[in-house]
Amino acid sequence: MKIAKTITELKTCLAEIGKDKTIGFVPTMGYLHDGHLSLINEARSQNDVTVVSIFVNPTQFAPGEDLDAYPRDFDRDSRLAEAAGTDLLFFPDPIEIYPAGASTFVAVEGAITRKLCGQSRPTHFKGVTTVVNILFNLILPTRAYLGQKDAQQVAVIKKMVRDLHLPVQIIVCPIVRDVDGLALSSRNVFLNLEERRQALILSQSLTAAKALYRAGEGRVKSLKDQIVSHISTMPLAIIDYVDILDFETLADIETITAPALAAVAVRFGSTRLIDNIIL
Ligand code: AMP
Repeated sequence: MKIAKTITELKTCLAEIGKDKTIGFVPTMGYLHDGHLSLINEARSQNDVTVVSIFVNPTQFAPGEDLDAYPRDFDRDSRLAEAAGTDLLFFPDPIEIYPAGASTFVAVEGAITRKLCGQSRPTHFKGVTTVVNILFNLILPTRAYLGQKDAQQVAVIKKMVRDLHLPVQIIVCPIVRDVDGLALSSRNVFLNLEERRQALILSQSLTAAKALYRAGEGRVKSLKDQIVSHISTMPLAIIDYVDILDFETLADIETITAPALAAVAVRFGSTRLIDNIIL
């Protein structure tokens, strides 16, 4: 596995790979877990070359969020990435990605970035789309691999790719969970034992909502109420949002007549977790 820390090194490695190879690209913020590794595996199986980036992107964190505290362990990450079959690992400093004075952003506007996580993190997706756009420009991947864990991020990036005619195919991979159902996340490391135990309510409430839906309940309000009351049984859970929206557009719906996304964000202590399920 090659490691590139600068754009010059990245360009040299990509030139060695050559233009005739298909490139599968997995953008991450590091502290890799089996969710990330599932994306790397999928990329490997569909492309000649697999490129992984590790970059804790400052522009997607607002002041007061956990940019400094975000877990980082490059040595462990590079071992895991290499063992998973990564060909090229891009690990840039922020100054490489955002040269001094950079002031250009790519923002997907409209309700798609304002609802769900956009309510409590109004500048988040602008940072995400900007960095993903920069990384796509640098790496020129054939396909990019994203996790359904970040469902809104998937919808927003797909829209950016469509709106800007970016020459990349977006491949979405399923949520990888711990055996007890907790969706894997780099932030799970911040949960103490009791918070982690109570956090299981996320996947449990979503699974219960799916069962209710399958039993014939298609009214969004009643499904949402059910999820909220389920999560509220956990004393440490502070709900950021519970919502059910059209799966593709994230438009509001009253009843489920096409695939819908049930998504939740809940704080346990200082840790904010998200999870979702498709209905
Ligand atoms: P992150 O490092 O958290 O920014 O995530 C990098 C990529 O991995 C994103 O596309 C995430 O959606 C994806 N990802 C994170 N956690 C999971 C998971 N539990 N299952 C599947 N994909 C995931």
